[in-house]
Amino acid sequence: MPPVLKIRSLAVACTTLDPARFPNSPWKEIAVSGRSNVGKSSLLNTLFERKNFARISNEPGKTRTMNFYAVNDRFYLVDFPGYGFARLSAETRKGWLRIIDAYIEGRPALAGVVQLVDSRHAPSKEDVERIERIVASARPFIVVFTKADKISNAERFRAVREFNESVEGIARIAALDKRAAVDGKTAREGAAAPALFFSATTGEGREDLWRWIMERIE
Ligand code: GDP
Repeated sequence: MPPVLKIRSLAVACTTLDPARFPNSPWKEIAVSGRSNVGKSSLLNTLFERKNFARISNEPGKTRTMNFYAVNDRFYLVDFPGYGFARLSAETRKGWLRIIDAYIEGRPALAGVVQLVDSRHAPSKEDVERIERIVASARPFIVVFTKADKISNAERFRAVREFNESVEGIARIAALDKRAAVDGKTAREGAAAPALFFSATTGEGREDLWRWIMERIE
């Protein structure tokens, strides 16, 4: 099977937390959300087939921003700041979330949200809060369990069960087979949202995640 997407061009279009500086273009955007250390940079680098592309704002001491990556001169992947970072003040955190939530709720170009959770752990309170926001916005979303190479098959079932228990009454994710990655609908529509397992180490999930993204872009 040919790859879903060939990366022909990739550029950092904009790194900012100032909505006035968000790109002013007709391209659609797919946001990637997750707590700090969930494996977001590794996932983005795997998607892009680059070693150190998505590192810009995650280095200690650097200001964290929303990073708009222009892919193939066609759409943006929007890298949110990783939340749950212990050394951040409550005020900084609130400031970000206000900007991110306004973006999720109001950004016309936003075509979907990729929410990352660590496959080894039950979702955190902040993960659940993020899911609540995304569901409230009625945006299409996919749940991606990161670091899947670190868990067994039995633990995958545990991860899905724990996730669904944590978001009960808010959302539900589908059983994990290949079709689940492309056929899911949001919980609002009465169906389960899609979910997949991803590993930056083995490349598992890369093609399915691109497929989901490209279906939102087209
Ligand atoms: P971020 O803070 O969300 O951007 O997380 P990083 O991508 O920097 O990853 C945090 C840590 O988890 C690093 O030590 C990575 O090497 C490791 N990591 C990330 N993704 C994977 C994965 O798929 N498999 C394994 N085994 N380790 C991973």
